[in-house]
Amino acid sequence: MKLMRNTLATAAVLGALAVAPYAHAADPCKLEISGNDLMQYDKPELSAPATCKEITITLHHAGKLPKEAMGHNWVLVNATDLAAVATAGMGAGLASDYVAPGDQRVLAHTKTIGGGETTSVTFPTSILKTGGAYQYLCTFPGHNALMHGTFKFG
Ligand code: ZN
Repeated sequence: MKLMRNTLATAAVLGALAVAPYAHAADPCKLEISGNDLMQYDKPELSAPATCKEITITLHHAGKLPKEAMGHNWVLVNATDLAAVATAGMGAGLASDYVAPGDQRVLAHTKTIGGGETTSVTFPTSILKTGGAYQYLCTFPGHNALMHGTFKFG
């Protein structure tokens, strides 16, 4: 009897361990990316399956510099719009998170953050086409040349 109770308790603990730590990481619709003080994202590509109804991007700034000096954001665009959105964002300024207000080419974006900060954005996948050619970039002035990547949906 004692053995049985121990076995059940062990099974319960293992069950909790298996579910809790991995529940977030296992969700393919929740993606994470970091930026640093060297003007780099840590991932050259992000992808989400077509089964996602919504996608959440969490951006973390792993550096120490303030957003006025080394701000990062995450902006999703059609690949062909990358340069134009970066130019428009530069002129928009930090108060607008370096995203031109009302810019229809911006499919989704986070706010601009500085070192140690984290932000996220959730958007519906109804704005995307499966297999479409998308890019993400940081629109802080001068950053997009290094800080961009491929976003795959579907
Ligand atoms: Zn940046």
